[in-house]
Amino acid sequence: MAVQPHFLLLTYPAQGHINPALQFAKGLTRIGALVTLVTSLSAGRRMSKTLFPDGLSFVTFSDGYDDGLKPEDDREHFKSELKRRGSQTLNELIVDSAKEGKPVTCLVYTMFLHWAAEVARAQHLPAALLWIQLATVFDIYYYYFNGYGDIFNNCKDTSYAIELPGLPPLASRDLPSLVLPSNTYAWALQMFQEQLEQLSQEANPKVLVNSFDALELGAMNATEKFNLTGIGPLIPSAFLDGKDPLDKSFGGDIFHGSEDYTEWLNSKTKSSVVYVSFGSILVLSKRQMEEIARGLVDSDLPFLWVIRDEQNKNEVKEEEEEDHLRACREAILERQGMIVPWCCQVGVLSHPSIGCFVTHCGWNSTLESLVCEVPVVAFPHWTDQGTNAKLIADVWKTGVRVVANEEGIVEGDEIKRCLDLVMAHGKTGEDIRKNAKKWKDLARDAVKEGGSSDKNLKAFVQDVGEGCF
Ligand code: UDP
Repeated sequence: MAVQPHFLLLTYPAQGHINPALQFAKGLTRIGALVTLVTSLSAGRRMSKTLFPDGLSFVTFSDGYDDGLKPEDDREHFKSELKRRGSQTLNELIVDSAKEGKPVTCLVYTMFLHWAAEVARAQHLPAALLWIQLATVFDIYYYYFNGYGDIFNNCKDTSYAIELPGLPPLASRDLPSLVLPSNTYAWALQMFQEQLEQLSQEANPKVLVNSFDALELGAMNATEKFNLTGIGPLIPSAFLDGKDPLDKSFGGDIFHGSEDYTEWLNSKTKSSVVYVSFGSILVLSKRQMEEIARGLVDSDLPFLWVIRDEQNKNEVKEEEEEDHLRACREAILERQGMIVPWCCQVGVLSHPSIGCFVTHCGWNSTLESLVCEVPVVAFPHWTDQGTNAKLIADVWKTGVRVVANEEGIVEGDEIKRCLDLVMAHGKTGEDIRKNAKKWKDLARDAVKEGGSSDKNLKAFVQDVGEGCF
């Protein structure tokens, strides 16, 4: 008798990993597979309200950092404990699942967890990496570690353009910050190196990318070594393909949000509101926050701004005298906008009153803006965000990119300039809106029955799950 394919899906305990992993898991259950989603206790505890569909079970394990990783913690120790305890959990789950008559078919893991592939190999199971950034960035890291390192090391100013096979010409500001000589996060670059080394050892490496063929056609097959498989965008179904109209949020929030913005959004006119968010990790300087506040006030547009609690704590740390920013915020809050600690971002982006998204260009946020047809003011900071901003501004042309001053601060005037361009009915704004519509349609085409991502996902399941169903 055929058995249901069973995927063991390990996700790194960060919001940018959990969201696409959850959507991937839901997609697998929709085509009849079982999924066991695994993450560490620190994230799992904060996802207590998450509703999992039938066929999806959730397992957590202690990595020894149950209150979350703090900036002062020893990263090497964290990495080795995550690997040691995570590997043990995966091994146990594989054995127990077989005993229960639900043998694991394939082990899928998100970035930074490459040791999961070693567990799969030892257990004679296929493994696949769920790459949660764009294909272009996968290629850039591959080139960096395979013969092109010197070109990157010479990349010192913003105008220097690098030509890499299959990719558009990239200036240094368009490259992932970790490959630039100025990188101060050696441990993070090392994680990418270890990931690529691990994949290189495999005869038939499987890399599933949260992107779609039409969006990054050249990048999917740019390197000779890897054929990347586009299975995205991994976005809640209600906003994408309607296969599950109740699937309206990622549902795996590790931050506590509010919903009292919905009524406020409902009270605004169509496409009039600026949504501002810098994702789940970034903490901006107080000076930068003040400039953003100034740009928003001067633009005179209504706005919804997500400011996480960590940001407020950072400002208290930076604070010396009076809290000007908070006073300014209170004033603008009353007049013009609303500030929340966290929200259901896809829900907000799909609200008709949203006219533009000021974003740090995390990959999930970038895809969500595309799917929801929201023009972008691209405000990148580090890792893949510069590459995402490059594609937004120059390739897909769904937004404009801010320019920082010599101190690296984006001033209020610059923010206002970008908002004026995107929100106004001039040529730039109209072109951006047309392109946003085009990419939204292409994203939806990719995931619908017979679309490229739909076919790729089913082919992957057939491939690893031969004999199942
Ligand atoms: N997000 C959210 N509510 C917020 C801010 C962010 O749900 O108030 C979600 C957003 O929808 C996205 C994720 O958090 O799916 C952030 O991932 P991204 O890759 O954009 O950035 P990161 O946080 O990894 O820098």
